[in-house]
Amino acid sequence: MSGPVRTCVGCRRKAPKTALLRLVAGPDGGVLVDHSQTAPGRGAYAHPDCVAQAMRKRVLERALRVSLAAQYHVPATN
Ligand SMILES: [Zn+2]
Repeated sequence: MSGPVRTCVGCRRKAPKTALLRLVAGPDGGVLVDHSQTAPGRGAYAHPDCVAQAMRKRVLERALRVSLAAQYHVPATN
C-alpha cells in the first residue's frame, strides 16, 4: 500500500493521509476540520485522537501559520 503520507501535528508520527483529519484555519480565526479535504489554504493533519492535544500545545497555530486569536482572511471560493 502506498499513498499520500502526512505528519500528524499532534504526535509527529507519519500516517496515511486518509487516517488523518485535515485541519484548516477558519475565517473566524479558529480551526476547522476540513471534512472534504479540499478547503483552500494551508492545512495541517492530525489523528482524530491528536487534535485536542495539538490545539493544547498550540502547534496548530505554528503549523497553520496563524495566530488563532488574530484575524485571518480565507479567500472566497466562489
Ligand atoms: Zn497523531
